[in-house]
Amino acid sequence: MITYLPVDLQLKDDYPFTCPCGHQQYARPSIAMRFDLNMGHGTCKKCNMFLHLEIVLPDNDAMKAEPHDAWSARLEASYR
Ligand SMILES: [Zn+2]
Repeated sequence: MITYLPVDLQLKDDYPFTCPCGHQQYARPSIAMRFDLNMGHGTCKKCNMFLHLEIVLPDNDAMKAEPHDAWSARLEASYR
């Protein structure tokens, strides 16, 4: 599912996230996030997994990461 960010949310410069492999790293907000869509993507610097990233609300101090394939399959299923 695609979730939205509050329009008055103050995005931070970067957010910590932990890859499913356990490696913690940082990501900057995506272009979509700047337009209030809570979605971004990136690649783990350790294991190279392609990840879907979302800002954790309401705390706004971290992102959660999951394999991009798992997220896109769930998204596709939600439109069936
Ligand atoms: Zn990883």
